[in-house]
Amino acid sequence: MKKILVIEDERPMVEAVKFSLEKEGFAVDMALDGKTGLEFFHTAHPDLILLDLMLPGMDGLEVCRLIRRESAVPIIMLTAKDSDVDKIVGLEMGADDYVTKPFNVRELVARVRAVLRRSAGGEDEYAANVLERGNIAIDMERHEVRVDERVIEIPPMEFRLLELFLKNPGKALAREYLIAKAWGGDFYGQTKTLDVHIRRLREKVETDPANPAHIKTVRGVGYRFDSP
Ligand code: CA
Repeated sequence: MKKILVIEDERPMVEAVKFSLEKEGFAVDMALDGKTGLEFFHTAHPDLILLDLMLPGMDGLEVCRLIRRESAVPIIMLTAKDSDVDKIVGLEMGADDYVTKPFNVRELVARVRAVLRRSAGGEDEYAANVLERGNIAIDMERHEVRVDERVIEIPPMEFRLLELFLKNPGKALAREYLIAKAWGGDFYGQTKTLDVHIRRLREKVETDPANPAHIKTVRGVGYRFDSP
């Protein structure tokens, strides 16, 4: 079981994060200040650290610097605002990733998994075969789709449509284009089929298929894939 250390002084947030991570099968230690966090780091040997930037006493940057002196353990920084990101990146203080508050806990769990996967090695090989956008990933070689890290069953046509979307994020793709690329043949008479496939795809990858966050309808054109 992977061990996560959360160093954050806002108790309700730590507890929410701890609850979600434990539900996903991680063991979680929490520390409410930097000094306690460093003690846990030395005694518990976590596999990954979630570290808040703004901490009472010793701040997150200092904690990160001290940890980096002796360990390459993956660290994800939690920041209150986007402007802090400049600080993290600018100081090159060795964090592996960052998450801006307020964050979606599911997004945080996905980041934790991604960072753990990267640190486990094989990143390049993984990247070559896997397209990942937000909470959706498709593995070309294994012909597998994962949503929120869970493998879902998906027929070949929907797989091809999803692949087209993930390869062209943010672009409005014409219905003709999607039909031609996904299964070829004439556009006429196929639009109903396309709509059915899109509806089924949404039911599989969207949290709320009636209000899709990813596969958006572009009126008069076709569809566009947005990743949050
Ligand atoms: Ca804080």
